[in-house]
Amino acid sequence: MKLSNILAAAEKPLISCEFFPPKTDKGEANLWQCLDELRVINPAYISVTYGAGGTTQDRTKGIVTRIQSETGLSPVAHLTCVGASKAELAELLADYQAAGIENILALRGDAPEGMDRFEAVAGGFSHATDLIAFLREQGDFSIACATYPEGHPESAGGVADDIRYLKEKQDRGADAAVTQYFFDNKTFFDFRNRCRAAGITLPIIPGIMPIGNFAQIVRFSAMCGASIPDWLHQKMTPIQDDLEAVKQMGIELAVAQCRELLENGVPGLHFYTLNKSAATIAIHSQLTDLLA
Ligand SMILES: Cc1cc2nc3c(=O)[nH]c(=O)nc-3n(C[C@H](O)[C@H](O)[C@H](O)COP(=O)(O)OP(=O)(O)OC[C@H]3O[C@@H](n4cnc5c(N)ncnc54)[C@H](O)[C@@H]3O)c2cc1C
Repeated sequence: MKLSNILAAAEKPLISCEFFPPKTDKGEANLWQCLDELRVINPAYISVTYGAGGTTQDRTKGIVTRIQSETGLSPVAHLTCVGASKAELAELLADYQAAGIENILALRGDAPEGMDRFEAVAGGFSHATDLIAFLREQGDFSIACATYPEGHPESAGGVADDIRYLKEKQDRGADAAVTQYFFDNKTFFDFRNRCRAAGITLPIIPGIMPIGNFAQIVRFSAMCGASIPDWLHQKMTPIQDDLEAVKQMGIELAVAQCRELLENGVPGLHFYTLNKSAATIAIHSQLTDLLA
């Protein structure tokens, strides 16, 4: 089902879950098991990330196609501009259309390993805005895009740039935006207010990162520009070597974060699952009064 229709028909906020394509058979078996386990929370859609290399990109296509044909869940295929010409993108989109894939999360993507900055290939795109316009020409897709409440690390003009480009993503045809994760809800609320003031009307779905390994989150956050507030350091640092305690604290904090977001009118919660199901299910079980 199209993401735009899913969001329009929803009477209560929705849950969605993001996975990455595993590199091994064992990882892939784990992914299908997680998707099965997640049925208890009735996810509105499952999104699958897109890597920088050919093999990982093929895995995304394989997983998304199988979700569509075998599970009854609605897949969203992430797609980036990395390393692809328009002709190659058009070919992939034609395959997606033939397989009944209706939803694309359109991204610029990051530089592949070994390169220090993103560079468009000849005949390719430099920004997600261009990919969104191209998607609109190529087929009847529902299109989501990414946005950054704390600003994208490359945005010289800070959050103001991200708001300007989010408006452009909307104008070029995006139906919804999913945010980078953040731990301070005030950042999100301020960002959303500024987006609305700038004429951005599309649903802005907050990305939620349940913390299962604090050191890993500190590393990720440094790369993607998500800040770790002092209060979070103070809670996590003393227990960071006790992974079970970190997981429990991660769930407790995510429940509190999601509850406040839901009480303040978000259209859904997008969970960065890191290919695990337990934390998302545990968090959901404590939010059922507020969810679809
Ligand atoms: C929800 C979510 C899912 C993600 N999934 C993936 C994934 O599957 N695979 C992957 O590789 N990465 C993924 N990423 C990471 C993403 O690819 C990186 O953050 C990347 O650096 C930027 O992608 P973007 O689509 O936001 O780029 P853009 O929107 O193109 O923005 C990149 C930079 O350029 C600026 N900019 C934007 N538009 C313009 C314009 N028209 N002209 C000039 N400057 C502009 C922005 O301010 C920003 O600094 C995801 C991120 C999020 C939040």
